[in-house]
Amino acid sequence: MQLCRFELGGTKRWGMIEGELVRPLTGRPWDGIRIETGAVPLATLDLLPPCVPTKIVAVGLNYRAHAAEVGKPLPAEPLIFLKAPSALLPPGGTVSLPTQSAQVEHEGELALVIGRVAHHVGKADALDYVLGFTCLDDVTARDIQRREKTYARAKGFDTFCPVGPWLETEVPDPQDLDLELRVDGTVRQRGTTADMIFTVAEIISFVSSIMTLAPGDLITTGTPPGVGPLLPGNEVEVTISGIGTLRHGCTAAE
Ligand code: MG
Repeated sequence: MQLCRFELGGTKRWGMIEGELVRPLTGRPWDGIRIETGAVPLATLDLLPPCVPTKIVAVGLNYRAHAAEVGKPLPAEPLIFLKAPSALLPPGGTVSLPTQSAQVEHEGELALVIGRVAHHVGKADALDYVLGFTCLDDVTARDIQRREKTYARAKGFDTFCPVGPWLETEVPDPQDLDLELRVDGTVRQRGTTADMIFTVAEIISFVSSIMTLAPGDLITTGTPPGVGPLLPGNEVEVTISGIGTLRHGCTAAE
């Protein structure tokens, strides 16, 4: 099943995608899938980020080859940081490249949205707490990240978290997905989630032992190698097999 969020008549709604149509849901999907009568063509909707996070938890250095390209040792435990929910950007949106940075980079990632309250969840049960999987670009001001000890500023600018376009609820094995990020049609990043250092289940279990995860929370799981610069006018696509393609633009901040 594919779940999306959209705004219609001034109201933010969840919906279930059926081919070219979206069937609106009553309430939130984690309270039960209740489909309303009627449908709206998907192409006519402005989609919203498919999440309502109290927090966005990100994992750094979770692919061996990416740790090597940024010259950092492999972490012994998941290296987590938070992105600000105010950084969320809907699918099809435009990243605003801030004047404070001369080196903003893309990081295509597999992300997931939590569907049940998760507190001290074991690894064996962790995937039961996932509502669905989606695509994310963990946009990063690399020059700021290099010179500051925390990532709050480098990863936290408004628009630095494009996510979507929807959630795929049926992913048989999240460690067997192909990820590709293209800039203006040229492949920059290509990887498989089989190369993750910490699996999705291990990440959920680890994070839930630190902070209680709420339905709608967003976790992003790290990026494969090939990170590179974003420039005004660039069109970015993040494609994950079995999930879909997230698109966003880039513009210079005013
Ligand atoms: Mg990242």
